[in-house]
Amino acid sequence: MTGDSPAVPAEPALTGRRLVLMNPGPVNTAEVVRGALGGPDMCHREPEFGELMNRIRHKATAVCGGGADHTSVLLTGSGTAALEAAVTSAIPADGGLLVVDNGHYGKRLFDIASVHGIRVTRLDLGWGTPVEPAAVGRALAADPSLTHVAVVHHETSTGMLNDVSGIGAVAHELGRRTIVDAISSVGAEPLDITRDHVDWLVGTANKCLEGMPGVSFVCASRRDFDALAAHPAHTYYLDLNRHFRAQEKAGAPAFTPSVPVFYAFEAALDLALAEGVAARGARYRALAERLRAGLTEQGLHIMLEPEHRAVSLSAIRLPGKMPYESLHDACKRAGFVIYAAQDQLAGGFFRLSTMGAMDERDIDRFLTALGEALSGHGRGAPVRSGPGEAA
Ligand SMILES: *Cc1c(COP(=O)(O)O)cnc(C)c1O
Repeated sequence: MTGDSPAVPAEPALTGRRLVLMNPGPVNTAEVVRGALGGPDMCHREPEFGELMNRIRHKATAVCGGGADHTSVLLTGSGTAALEAAVTSAIPADGGLLVVDNGHYGKRLFDIASVHGIRVTRLDLGWGTPVEPAAVGRALAADPSLTHVAVVHHETSTGMLNDVSGIGAVAHELGRRTIVDAISSVGAEPLDITRDHVDWLVGTANKCLEGMPGVSFVCASRRDFDALAAHPAHTYYLDLNRHFRAQEKAGAPAFTPSVPVFYAFEAALDLALAEGVAARGARYRALAERLRAGLTEQGLHIMLEPEHRAVSLSAIRLPGKMPYESLHDACKRAGFVIYAAQDQLAGGFFRLSTMGAMDERDIDRFLTALGEALSGHGRGAPVRSGPGEAA
């Protein structure tokens, strides 16, 4: 093109400095993870992809605390794909599921089971109510047809960390199997697939594992994966038995995987394993405590008693009459993406995550920006794109 083509408006979202993502995934990633996305073009049925896939399966299993008896199956798709695969594949036709529900993601587990016609009972505790393992034990004891129990580890809608270890012990005692949505906890919260009696652990790349969105996984024992072959599949694309057989026995994925996202996931897992789950949890917690102290200083109310809070997320009451959108837009102009609350908390609360590649300076800059937004300085026209001005 030459001369006077029509002026194309600049795209402010794609220019200027990085946005700090305080939404709980996708998170800010390390340069080495973003760089890995540009790896070579690759056919997923060649041995080099099989090797990459096996390394990732091995590393994901290690993050979950699994040993030689465990393995992971990778799925191209967001965390919900792996959840749906686990729930629909693990529960046999004559089985039943108890879902522990104290937030949006507990309800999602119930909805997934319901859509597939799985017999499901909901232990509906109410949002932000801690679950007593004994209550799960009573519900299981009352109904022997409930062969499985599903629970969310970090209930990201409220920031509550559920007692998976206690629930696992109770379920195991009663001879029941457990499915754990560890999507927003694996990699940062203490969780050990063996010690905590987790039979099916579901995780994803782009939350505490700090990879790119587009790949998720289910970690379980080889014995349990093998046993899936005895049951007819409920779904085609998300059939864990199909994926396990393809990945484990044939050494190739069942369907076309998101190859570049796999590259990035391996880079992210290498960082996660080098840092260690405990150290990453401590890093997130230090940032969250710094954030929470600053929020409290500004007179803001944080949901949940401190002992129930996950290391990575805070749900905060919206101050006064400030609409969420105004606060969001003011923060975004300053370079920070905050996150709305869901369902029954929408309107009254917002959420801030400390997952991902961020540091103390980001938290301090955010607190300053938030203070200015709340005192009215940051108000202005709504924005849809990123910050245009320099820091
Ligand atoms: C993010 C999340 C999910 C899955 O969300 P996707 O958008 O499918 O990745 C499921 N459970 C919990 C607890 C989550 O935080």
